[in-house]
Order: sequence, then structure tokens, then C-alpha cells
Amino acid sequence: MIQISDPIELKKQMRPLGSIGFVPTMGALHDGHFSLIKKSLQENEKTVVSIFLNATQFNNKEDLEKYPTSFKDDLKKLEELNVDYLFAPEFIDMYPDNYRYRVSEDKFSKTLCGSSRMGHFDGVLTVVLKLFNLVQPNKAYFGEKDYQQLSLIQDMAKAFFLDVEIVPCPIVRTKEGLALSSRNKRLSNEGLLKAQRFAKILQESKELTEAQKKLQEEGIKIDYLEEIGSRRFAAVEIENIRLIDNVEK
Ligand code: AMP
Repeated sequence: MIQISDPIELKKQMRPLGSIGFVPTMGALHDGHFSLIKKSLQENEKTVVSIFLNATQFNNKEDLEKYPTSFKDDLKKLEELNVDYLFAPEFIDMYPDNYRYRVSEDKFSKTLCGSSRMGHFDGVLTVVLKLFNLVQPNKAYFGEKDYQQLSLIQDMAKAFFLDVEIVPCPIVRTKEGLALSSRNKRLSNEGLLKAQRFAKILQESKELTEAQKKLQEEGIKIDYLEEIGSRRFAAVEIENIRLIDNVEK
């Protein structure tokens, strides 16, 4: 696996490659990430994975500082999977402008996760556009776990005529139904059980009001719980850790 941290060097190396599949991540990799990477390995000649803990999408300093990292283990796993390139830049590499320039969306990004995390999606869209410009992928893989993010990236690709196919990938869950997430690593055993009950309530409640009542009974703090179209979305806080999930109704 070739490891690169310099954006310009990366761009140079990408140009002569065949079809490129790209999986952007923030590290602390788990089976959810690996499902995207495996799909990319199957569908493309070369696969590029990025690990970049994107500070601009965090509106809460403590949340950023406590975000789990496991770079050495991630590296080992990516080698085992036969990933072709790992791009792991530093903040200054990705933001030589110190975030003076940014992409923003005016509507959907202000709802759900965007309403409680000010500027979150500006950070996401900006870094994804930068990464696309560097990697120049034919296909880029995103999990339905972050459904709002996936949808905003699909719309951005259309809005800016980007030459990339956005490939949605299904949510990978534990056998108890909890969506895998890097943040789960911060939960205590008790917190983990609560998180499993959160997933179960979200999936099994017939009505939103029923879900709301059950979450409250569990003492789970709700950030939002909403249905849009045929999908139910929720963000909650367990042990001060923000977890999101969504299910098809
Ligand atoms: P993150 O490192 O959390 O930014 O996630 C990187 C990519 O992996 C995003 O496209 C996520 O939606 C995706 N992802 C994270 N967790 C899961 C999961 N449990 N199932 C499927 N995709 C996931």
C-alpha cells in the first residue's frame, strides 16, 4: 500500500491510474467502513481510502478531542484488505486557506443533524469536495448510516457537475441491531446496552410518539426524532456521546 500525505503528490499519482474507487473516512475503522472498502475493491481497478479527522465538521471541541483514533490498527487492516492507497493528510494539508473558502448548502443541511451541529455540513461538503478534487475518483462510497450526509453529497455532485458516481452502501449493524459507529467505542458496557435499546426502539416502534415515549422511559436524551418520506431519523445522546441512526419505515 502506498501512503501519501501531500495533496499535490496524491493528485499527480492519481492521474494515470485506471478506474478509481474512493472511501473517505475519519478513521477508527470498523466493519461498516470495511463493507464500503470491499465494495470499492470489487468494483474498481484501484481503491483509495482516506483517513482524515475533519476538524471543520465538529462544532464541539470536546467531541473532536474525544473522537476515537486507532491509526496503527487501521493501517494494518487496510494492508490486509489490499487497499491500494491510503491518503492521510494533516489539517494544514487540506486547509492551506485555513477554511476561508467553504461549500455550503442552504436547505436540507440546516435540518436534522445540521440544526444542532451548526456548520457541520459545511465542513463535510467542503472536505469531500477537496478530497474528490485530489483523488478524482470514478466512484465514491458512502454509508446510509449517515443518510443526510449521503443525500447532501449526492446533491452536491449534481449541483457542481462532478464527474463521480456516488455509491450508497447499506448500514452494517451488530447482531443486536446497533449501527456500527466509531463513537460506539467510547460507550461503557451499560451505555452500549442503552444504545442497543435505542436502535431497537427506532426500528420497532410503530409511531413516532411511541418511539419518543420509550426513549424517554429509557432515560435516553433525544436530539431529534423525525420522519421524512419513508425514513425515520434520530439522534440521541448516551453518556454524552452523540449517536445517530435511521431506518426505512
Ligand atoms: P466516518 O469515518 O464515520 O466518517 O464514516 C466514513 C464512511 O463510512 C461514511 O460514508 C459512513 O456513512 C460510513 N459508515 C460508518 N458507519 C457505517 C455503518 N455502520 N454502516 C455502513 N456505513 C458506515
